[in-house]
Amino acid sequence: MSYRVHWMNTGEIEVALGTSLLGLGYNPKMPGGQILTYGYQERIERADGTVGSGTMVPIPLYYIEGTKQKIIVDTGTNPETCKEGEVLTEAYGGRQYWYTTPEQDVRAQLGRLGVTPEEIDIVIMTHLHLDHIGNTKLFPNARFIVQRDELAWFMAPPIASAFYYPELRHYFADIMDQVDCIEGDMQVENGLDLVLVGGHTPGSMVVLIETVNGKVGLVGDFYYNYVNMEYDWPPGAYWDLGEWLRNSRRIKQMADIVIPNHDYYYMKLYPEGVIE
Ligand SMILES: [Zn+2]
Repeated sequence: MSYRVHWMNTGEIEVALGTSLLGLGYNPKMPGGQILTYGYQERIERADGTVGSGTMVPIPLYYIEGTKQKIIVDTGTNPETCKEGEVLTEAYGGRQYWYTTPEQDVRAQLGRLGVTPEEIDIVIMTHLHLDHIGNTKLFPNARFIVQRDELAWFMAPPIASAFYYPELRHYFADIMDQVDCIEGDMQVENGLDLVLVGGHTPGSMVVLIETVNGKVGLVGDFYYNYVNMEYDWPPGAYWDLGEWLRNSRRIKQMADIVIPNHDYYYMKLYPEGVIE
């Protein structure tokens, strides 16, 4: 059994270094005393004339080719969700800048592979942060697989909860009939497994996919970027640090090829966007 994984970028966010790397990557034992993310920019000149610093990161989803059912992992973003992301992060503190283009439209990108959103049977949700749930309503015939804990915290977030906001409930409240909650690990098809790892969020899942070159691990935002993975250095946005550290080691044992979710370094390794 071997599958191919298609990476589809649906947009871009400007992410502050503190979100990408716990403690801004400072540590005397690190090269130069501080590690930085790939593509980090001290000065980002934005279209609105303001200036920021941080990393422009992709917002991908994944289409898995070769399975019996038509399966995607996460749903990416769209123009309305980008706007919502900016308004909410502004309201809750720490405005983020979100971007998307017409070429990044999910229907258009799936169309290039000859697939329509209506044909998708299964949507695997690595977790329920806004940059992953933007297009939940685009797949009317899909079942959504999500960890029960993840959905519970998402629907009723505690007040001090970065990136879960009550205003976002509609992304799942409106499709609740399509949701299959799971608790723990699950096999979706032969050679396609879900493993609960938490750490980044209560119900973060890793998707393990058999390919000709080994087992690919799509880790959601457990690893935001390659630096998180290489140095076992958590992203700044985490839920349970102890769980993160324990499962970071586990993930590297489970998968031969690990794909951090928000890092353009991916394009250096896989210029065609395909992992196999
Ligand atoms: Zn994300």
